[in-house]
Amino acid sequence: MTSAEPLQITLLGATGSIGASTLDVVTRHPDRYQIYALTANTNVEAMQLLCDRWNPRYAVMNDVESAAELRSRLSSAKSQTVVLEGESGLLQVVNDQQVDCVVAAIVGAAGLVPTLAAAKAGKRVLLANKEALVMSGKLFIDTARENNAVLMPVDSEHNAIFQCLPDSLTEHHSSVKMVNQQACVGIKRILLTASGGPFRTWSTEQLHDVTPEQAVAHPNWDMGRKISVDSATLMNKGLELIEAYWLFDMDIANIDVVIHPQSVIHSMVTYTDGSVLAQLGNPDMRTPIAHALAWPERISSGVEPLNIFDVAKLDFEQPDLARFPCLRLCYEAIKKGGSATIVLNAANEIAVAAFLDEKIGFNDIAVVIEQTMEKAKITEDVSSLEDILEADAMARSITNECLAVMH
Ligand code: NAD
Ligand code: MG
Repeated sequence: MTSAEPLQITLLGATGSIGASTLDVVTRHPDRYQIYALTANTNVEAMQLLCDRWNPRYAVMNDVESAAELRSRLSSAKSQTVVLEGESGLLQVVNDQQVDCVVAAIVGAAGLVPTLAAAKAGKRVLLANKEALVMSGKLFIDTARENNAVLMPVDSEHNAIFQCLPDSLTEHHSSVKMVNQQACVGIKRILLTASGGPFRTWSTEQLHDVTPEQAVAHPNWDMGRKISVDSATLMNKGLELIEAYWLFDMDIANIDVVIHPQSVIHSMVTYTDGSVLAQLGNPDMRTPIAHALAWPERISSGVEPLNIFDVAKLDFEQPDLARFPCLRLCYEAIKKGGSATIVLNAANEIAVAAFLDEKIGFNDIAVVIEQTMEKAKITEDVSSLEDILEADAMARSITNECLAVMH
């Protein structure tokens, strides 16, 4: 146990699923962690409850009207919390000198600007918002490295890989600093596990009729709506492939996606001597969050240790790219390089929202993404935030055109 001052945390996306899991871990360690700022998009009700409970210095609502509503409610309740709004508010609570740690748990491209800012400010960054890394790739990793940010993967697979890597690589307190050292330590492959989602065994015809309610009901993990749909299409695994590529500087040809329906092994690393190291645990995000918060120490997370006798059986299968074309599109986007992964991510966000709105069917998600990738101009140079945001905006307008033609 440390005797130091508690770590000051800014939690981006506090009202979400990762936000709730983070607060659950933090609650168990009041001497180690303090909530400096909480942020959300529009959910004033949830944010007010969180402010009552946590009494943060700042609460940020991305939406201006929601900020006004929260401000008025908190002031009636004589709260000390200062309410900020929009991107400037998010940037302020990321950049503040007092902040040690930023938990990046906004969903989608909306998280890019504040997450990148946290890397630039040299914070300890707990990365859940995989879309931010998928979009900014090299820029994000370079920014984190140049500014001595401590980049901790929260995504369960990447956290598992981090845990299976040798201590000698992680002693610099950052996965970023492992880059280019892999050859000398004999890492051969990464095995990225996937549950296969709720429709793992369904035929293409059955997938045609999937409803949003069915898609968001994941068998093993309790998550936000967007990532739940991504898990059902296997887009989530494709985004994670891109995430692993950047985090661990691993050639895509050396990363295997393994369908493992029990979600007990969270990923594996294969070494040249034939060893395969795996990280196992109950599927509960509080474990990787606690690991990423406390590393290199270990703290309790509220998750029960895995009872291996209850699990009894572990299955492994190859992914089926024909029934789940989103994963194939991710491989293609990585091969294309440049802005292709930005286009893929933007098209997916719009297509998933259209599916959740019942405007398109489940199988149409991949169709819309593929059409957008064919139509969009893929640019080579996406080295600045402006380039990235431009490619994202362009892709969104093409996806919307594709959707308009569909109906
Ligand atoms: P969620 O939908 O439950 O929560 C999203 C949060 O982001 C909310 O607090 C919301 O207010 C905020 N938000 C949404 N749009 C915003 C905007 N435009 N501006 C500012 N804030 C905005 O999502 P989640 O499941 O918690 O996932 C968050 C991120 O973590 C995603 O990138 C997801 O891929 C990743 N992740 C989630 C899990 C999981 O188990 N839920 C696991 C691994 C990775
Ligand atoms: Mg994951």
